[in-house]
Amino acid sequence: MEVRLFNSLTRSIEPFRPLDPKGEAVKMYTCGPTVYNYAHIGNFRAYIFEDLLQRHLEARRFKVERVMNLTDVDDKTIRGCRVMGVRLAEFTQRYKDAFFEDLAQLRIKRAAHFPAATEPRYIQRMIEMITFLESKDFAYKAEDGSVYFRISSFADYGRLAHLNLEELRPSGRINTDEYEKESIGDFALWKVWNEEDGDVWWESPWGRGRPGWHIECSAMATAILGPELDIHCGGVDNLFPHHEAEIAQSECFTSKQFVKYWLHCAHLLVDSQKMSKSAGNFYTLRDLIERGYTGREIRYALISVHYRLPLNFTLAGLDAARAALSRIDAWVRRLHERAQAASAGGVPSFPESESFLKALDDDLNISGALACLFDWIRDTNRMMDLGELSEAQAAKCLADFGVINSILACEAAQIDVPKEITQLLEERQNARAARDWALSDTLRDRILSMGWMLKDTKQGQQVTRNS
Ligand code: AMP
Ligand code: ZN
Repeated sequence: MEVRLFNSLTRSIEPFRPLDPKGEAVKMYTCGPTVYNYAHIGNFRAYIFEDLLQRHLEARRFKVERVMNLTDVDDKTIRGCRVMGVRLAEFTQRYKDAFFEDLAQLRIKRAAHFPAATEPRYIQRMIEMITFLESKDFAYKAEDGSVYFRISSFADYGRLAHLNLEELRPSGRINTDEYEKESIGDFALWKVWNEEDGDVWWESPWGRGRPGWHIECSAMATAILGPELDIHCGGVDNLFPHHEAEIAQSECFTSKQFVKYWLHCAHLLVDSQKMSKSAGNFYTLRDLIERGYTGREIRYALISVHYRLPLNFTLAGLDAARAALSRIDAWVRRLHERAQAASAGGVPSFPESESFLKALDDDLNISGALACLFDWIRDTNRMMDLGELSEAQAAKCLADFGVINSILACEAAQIDVPKEITQLLEERQNARAARDWALSDTLRDRILSMGWMLKDTKQGQQVTRNS
């Protein structure tokens, strides 16, 4: 079976066939964070969905080249640095650094490229694009000094968001980066400097100013990946106006179809409302880590609901993720004990990793995929209870689980164990090497009293959270 994905452009599930004639290379662009604050876990739902997509395509042997941009100049970043009284670059650097730390905690694969909008080559590219668009009448400089995209010049405008332009009757111009469908109109490509911009400006053929948010992504995407992309993703709130604007700017510039497949994930909700900074109903990853959850648990909670379904965020949901992970951990530990030194060679294959992948082929059907995994865990646990799983079969299970884990990235790792525990483990290892069993036992009790379970295995000490 081939990979099938829901394309927002056609509103249907389509077979995924990349533009590459060899059918291997995949060019994927993902709108990254606006670095004016710590990303909240609603943002991370979008990045984890993109991570799932990339990892699944890679498991299916596609070669994915992914770009994730950093929006480090826009209305929000400028406002933020003015309030703090620091330079824009200094203000955004703090949140860029935090973002990369968070990606690592959540085990999100790093993109091949992380371009930032303010890099001189991209500002240059934005100016080139706007100059071209203006020369062909797709854009014009208005009386206010800013340059706008003329939406009536692009017949396909509104195709992605399925807008009926006649009904909406576009009027006026829009200078802000974000707006609703109801206030459709020509949007800003280049914003002339005003006092509120402070020292944030670049020289351009239209005088001092700065780019609009939408042109930033068109410039970075086409500069790195070329005029035609296979996949472009984001949260559903990016679909209009941001992605609609990206299509208009890019296609008028290149005369090619900008993107073949548009994928959008539904929102992370809190009490039926979108989690967002403006609504004030958000949690950052840091907030949750302070409450004792790990990046692995948060990742699992965010990945385990289909990307096109709204996901209601609750702490109970995180506890359920913790319970599911301990089930997987216990099973993996048991398989390790059973497998001992056996190798998986020559043993008939378990079909489970393939069933897992097949479920994901179907528009990333994660519920189906996880159901396969947990059925498999139940069945093989039963076989182990009855002593019916051979050592070689256990080794095969672990190898197959490796395929699943390359996508879920859910396996327990030392990274999730807090520092105090790893220190105690080290002390205990030293005590055991010195045959100081009394100290070893005391240290074990300390670890247990801190809510962790400890096992001594051939591979060494293994800890899991006692939940
Ligand atoms: P921003 O930093 O606001 O540009 O958003 C970065 C990414 O997070 C975009 O792809 C948004 O669509 C996405 N996003 C923002 N809020 C949520 C949410 N509550 N649920 C899912 N995705 C979101
Ligand atoms: Zn974007």
